[in-house]
Amino acid sequence: MASVFGHGIVGFTLSKVIDNKNLKWLMLAAMFSAILPDFDVIGYRIGIPYASPLGHRGFTHSILFAVLWSLFLMFTIGRKHKLTWFLVVFTTTISHGLLDAITTGGEGVGFFIPFENSRYFFPTRVILVSPLSIKSFFTDWGLQVIFSEIK
Ligand SMILES: [Zn+2]
Repeated sequence: MASVFGHGIVGFTLSKVIDNKNLKWLMLAAMFSAILPDFDVIGYRIGIPYASPLGHRGFTHSILFAVLWSLFLMFTIGRKHKLTWFLVVFTTTISHGLLDAITTGGEGVGFFIPFENSRYFFPTRVILVSPLSIKSFFTDWGLQVIFSEIK
């Protein structure tokens, strides 16, 4: 993954670019949605292998997940501004996988799961892969990740 900070900043920025109504809850939902796909690391603790469709960078990083999550939020808390909610949540959720696909490590991203289980990277990979643990993030490695994201 790119860092949680990098994903959150992208979510915040996309909400500000797309949402001309300045919806505060949407901004928070966008930041959360940009981070949400990495909740799949919980799978490590229950024995789901990394390369599984439900493993890290699997289904939660897919286009289908972004669509389903966007529809869920649009029909629950975004009912008054459906199109805006859908666009912001979809772009911020899928931005997570797009950023992961330009990182230097880990498995690729399963954009097409469950229809096709291959993992993908983009040809250009410029963001250092972020450590998964908080403890490891606050080391020199985490600092290098932040610098690569700023670039
Ligand atoms: Zn990720």
